[in-house]
Amino acid sequence: MGWLDLWRKDRTEPSQAVPVPLFFTNTLSGKKEPFVPLKPGQVLLYSCGPTVYSRAHVGNLRAYVFADTLARTLEGAGYHVRRVINITDVGHLVADGDEGEDKMTVAARAEGLKPEAIADRYAKQFIEDLRDLDIHTEEILFPRATGYIREQIALGETLEQKGFAYRTPDGLYYDTSRFPGYGKLGNFSAARLRDGARVAIADGKRNPTDFALWRIAKPGDLQQWDSPWGRGNPGWHIECSAMIRALLGQQIDIHTGGEDHIQIHHNNEIAQSEAASGRTFVRYWMHNAFLTMNQNKISKSLQNDVYLSDIVEKGLHPLSLRYFFLQAHYRTPLSFSWDALSAAEGALERLWRNAEEVAVESAKNEAPSEARERFLAAMRDDLSTPQALGILWDALRSEEYAPEEKWGLLMDAEKHLGLRLLAPPVAASLPASELPAPVREALERREAARTARDFRTADALREQIENRGYRVEDSPSGPVLTKKP
Ligand code: AMP
Ligand code: ZN
Repeated sequence: MGWLDLWRKDRTEPSQAVPVPLFFTNTLSGKKEPFVPLKPGQVLLYSCGPTVYSRAHVGNLRAYVFADTLARTLEGAGYHVRRVINITDVGHLVADGDEGEDKMTVAARAEGLKPEAIADRYAKQFIEDLRDLDIHTEEILFPRATGYIREQIALGETLEQKGFAYRTPDGLYYDTSRFPGYGKLGNFSAARLRDGARVAIADGKRNPTDFALWRIAKPGDLQQWDSPWGRGNPGWHIECSAMIRALLGQQIDIHTGGEDHIQIHHNNEIAQSEAASGRTFVRYWMHNAFLTMNQNKISKSLQNDVYLSDIVEKGLHPLSLRYFFLQAHYRTPLSFSWDALSAAEGALERLWRNAEEVAVESAKNEAPSEARERFLAAMRDDLSTPQALGILWDALRSEEYAPEEKWGLLMDAEKHLGLRLLAPPVAASLPASELPAPVREALERREAARTARDFRTADALREQIENRGYRVEDSPSGPVLTKKP
């Protein structure tokens, strides 16, 4: 049995006895709807992945933190979630339409490498970024478009046989006029799409909204395969339809992506998949709003692109980006600034310190509470992360909740938000040699008092340390001393 079979097997057993109510905004209806899975206890979830011609910027990362928060919320409600994020390593053209060169070819030429080497480098970096954002990448499949050429060709053949595709001198095109309701996602009617189409009609194209399923290779194309339509490469949209079909099936529960993909990419995925199968392709389409900077979208071409590595280089924790995203609802546009990110880091560090205190006070025993119920209800109501964070903060500050209740809430918060609340990455402690003798001595006595469970003495000693301008925090690996700002 291969790893793929194991992954499938592990994740197909339903675990849920009674379904927990969940509500998500579905781009298909434009409304918030109760979530009902295709199969009890299981969710098939696909997210459009990055084009690996360069690194993923913080705007792209917003899309994956959103999808991860969704997956965590589904898991928190008892579902097995089978997740796929594709890696686009062929087919995405520079102009986003059917014109221009392939982004991978352009990058390969610029860097003097083969497209596969470029794809390897940036796919690896992408997955590392996700890991730094506390996304459990080992639970996600990351198929590459070049690994599914046969499946893409087979889908093209099916569409041609069913009369949804036609040949042109350029390759194979999808005939959007043959698909009733083309543009239904986000209510882009065919007429509006036609009016808005910026792409000139290529040779032999029947309708402006028609798109390439296969393109005959052009001179200089570095990636080419044989096909019934000639040697060439797949169009961009067909990879998602083909990989979803191959890895998750003809119908899936949820498909996510940034809102920029609704109009064309996702309407094209629907047209391909539904024409081929005759069935509803995706039950719930969910889209995140954009991350912007100074009212502009974040993009390489505007040269305002920021990467996770820039954040780390500035001495900020990568999870401060996750916290920053969670402060806004995924459907609300969010503006990036370094000040806002630093503020998010400050808040996250305070949260970690609170969490550590609760860990000590509760001895990591959990209890149910009404705050916990409200937290879960907020997350299950279309991933209302700003409300959920508010509930978490209020409860942690409140004296009305016992430490065990707070610890229980933190357990749910960690499960749903993924901020390493249960074992925070603490700031490095100052070495003992750098501490004034009275502070060092007080610290040693405080440790002895804590070991003897004499918390009153330990607290008095903490105060002494703080009065001398230091802060002491308890972490699972011992006390952490830092200078007060
Ligand atoms: P791409 O590589 O362009 O296909 O983008 C990968 C994912 O990031 C897609 O789901 C996009 O919709 C999403 N995305 C791109 N730019 C942004 C942005 N500035 N804010 C939020 N999501 C974005
Ligand atoms: Zn896609």
